[in-house]
Amino acid sequence: MTSQIKIPPYRIHVAIPGPFSGPLGYCHHSPVALGARCLVPLGRRSVVGVTVAPGPDGADYPIERLKPIGAVLDPGALLPADILALAAWLGRYYLHEFSSGFLLALPALLRKGGGAELPVEEWVTLTVPGVAILPDQLKRSVAQQQLIALLQDISTSTVRALRERGFSRGQLTSLVKKDLITIQIHQDDQPIAPTGTLFEPALELNNEQQLALDAVNREPYSPFLLEGVTGSGKTEVYLQAIERCLREGKRALVLVPEIGLTPQTIQRFQSRFQDRVVALHSGLSDAQRLSAWLQASLGQAAIVIGTRSAVLTPLPNLGLIVVDEEHDLSYKQQDSLRYQARDVALKRAHDAGIPIILGTATPSLESLHNAQTGRFGHLLLNHRAGGMALPGVETIDMRKQQHQNGLSERLLMRVADHLADGNQVLLFLNRRGYAPSWFCADCGWMADCVFCDAHLTHHRQGYSNICHHCGHREAPRKSCPTCHSNQVSAMGTGTERAEELLGELFPAVPVIRFDRDAASTRHKFVAQLERTDLPGPAIIVGTQMLAKGHHFERVTLVGIWDIDIGLFSADLRARERMGQLLTQVSGRSGRGERRGEVLIQTYYPDDPIFVPLKQHDYRTFANDLLAERQRSGLPPFGYLAVIRCDSAFADRAEARLQQMAHYLLSTKRVRVLGPIPALLSRRAGKHRFMLIVQSDKRSHLHQSLTPLHQHYPRDQQQVSWHIDIDPAEL
Ligand code: ADP
Ligand code: ZN
Ligand code: ZN
Repeated sequence: MTSQIKIPPYRIHVAIPGPFSGPLGYCHHSPVALGARCLVPLGRRSVVGVTVAPGPDGADYPIERLKPIGAVLDPGALLPADILALAAWLGRYYLHEFSSGFLLALPALLRKGGGAELPVEEWVTLTVPGVAILPDQLKRSVAQQQLIALLQDISTSTVRALRERGFSRGQLTSLVKKDLITIQIHQDDQPIAPTGTLFEPALELNNEQQLALDAVNREPYSPFLLEGVTGSGKTEVYLQAIERCLREGKRALVLVPEIGLTPQTIQRFQSRFQDRVVALHSGLSDAQRLSAWLQASLGQAAIVIGTRSAVLTPLPNLGLIVVDEEHDLSYKQQDSLRYQARDVALKRAHDAGIPIILGTATPSLESLHNAQTGRFGHLLLNHRAGGMALPGVETIDMRKQQHQNGLSERLLMRVADHLADGNQVLLFLNRRGYAPSWFCADCGWMADCVFCDAHLTHHRQGYSNICHHCGHREAPRKSCPTCHSNQVSAMGTGTERAEELLGELFPAVPVIRFDRDAASTRHKFVAQLERTDLPGPAIIVGTQMLAKGHHFERVTLVGIWDIDIGLFSADLRARERMGQLLTQVSGRSGRGERRGEVLIQTYYPDDPIFVPLKQHDYRTFANDLLAERQRSGLPPFGYLAVIRCDSAFADRAEARLQQMAHYLLSTKRVRVLGPIPALLSRRAGKHRFMLIVQSDKRSHLHQSLTPLHQHYPRDQQQVSWHIDIDPAEL
């Protein structure tokens, strides 16, 4: 008996996880839609990949030698053409693995090969009264309160998902009886056309807002920088631009910084629009994320509001993108595929031919430059929407002040005054933990991390000294290892100590702390936010978490406890960040009915950074920085990449970068600085070096850097390295 092996005739190109610079070729007995997932063999494993268009050298491998696809997982395209193109661009532009953009575009469950159908489900949706009710109006049932609060946070959910979270059928039925929710059974994978119908009327825009909205509505395609002081009503402009987009039957994508995507924010969109709003953030389970993603890609959601990675969410008939707080550092991914979501959003809007609004009170230098040179429309909101004056800003000269753990007499007295008036006070201290060092008063010894070039931070909770760079923790020493003195103790003040001190000074006032310890999860963060809603005076103390677009209605005094360290950082963007941070934190003051006050403690009151800040003139500050950047050919006047390299052996890391520097210089298209030690020169036992690569032309930068991956494998001889295009920090 003869058997003839039949060769499947179709050549399929698949993007699969791994260090490949293009898709791999497979064969199949029928064509497969581009953007469908399939299971393919790779070595001895079987992996999930996405079918894509052939790469430049995809066609020449003889088809007889290709392995067949194991299984096709989707009947049609899961990722639409626009997302496929954007994903391919991501890998190329950020010089990362070919597949990384495609994988980023898929929710985790789909990456693992899970089913992409919305199951037949009972869907729970809030009614109009359900959207508006405050959870604590449901006096007698804590479970019902939690249920409503949850739904207000995530919009729609399924009965199944809610029961998984421990809610009972009976609790759901009670809410149906109170007309707060509805439950409907459907498996519907049909798109729902957006209508733009409103639950509540839009606010009447002031002049500046109207001008901004008209400009956005006039241009079929353009990026806009919406530069509006804190509290100027940027969100209302977004809402009305979105309304018009929905009325035209198109959908909208809204990006916000992770910490900005609070229930408050989501509710602001939900209580305005009757169309479905879907949120994508880190508080979702994998199943919830998948459901939200499917609703978006099937065209059931009219508005997607999400954090960084939501920029790749498929949305049929997308009509508008909004990037709120566009300057925010959280838009830049700091590992693996180091993309900048704002820039990806700009690319997506450009390719789709739709408007995009970048909103902020403190534009990044890049966006400001684009607006000032006419590449972006420049929309200005110079006044607070409610007519409230901006707060008065003053510095406190710490050289002339008595202080208690860094809290000056002057600031302390103002805190007491504002609290006595029944107001809230916000104190900003960008240092978490109890104290930034553990110190010997006799000889000056400080506890250092054994793995990093850094001091340990003392934490009172858990009583340990912790390295904030590698997580190493150890018990605080009772005596000094150098001079054996027992005068060893915590030195300096972090948020934990600030909380303790304020609790002692104002025992009758709640102190609400925001930092990565006290608000370590989204859930805890939201719980802390809720505490700030309680009536009466309160002290809010925390790190830069506080700077991100929160509306603390009753804060009238903002005190900056300590920022001096930020004035002298070697990082290229340190001063830009500092100006943004100070402006944003100051903007938390006086958003309600009472005029605000801002007091900044510093040992360097003459630093020029404070002049524009006091005059609410971020623009002058930013333009001064732009002039400096221009003189040195730095972004946005030149293009920058950093190659970072680390190894347990310092000489190996340095030598690898040295070789790369030689190669890059030989291309004669870029300038190279380094190798130099990284700002943190040793971390988790690895020595770290960097090479700064600069060019006046973006294309030159890419042409020089692209071949590096072929010449130098990424992990070899215990040396690993990566390229960071448009780095956010050095
Ligand atoms: P931003 O996003 O610029 O910081 P918001 O959009 O949060 O500012 O608006 C600040 C406050 O002003 C909110 O309470 C908002 O409801 C209110 N507001 C915005 N626009 C108007 C308007 N046109 N008329 C009255 N109040 C407004
Ligand atoms: Zn000592
Ligand atoms: Zn460490």
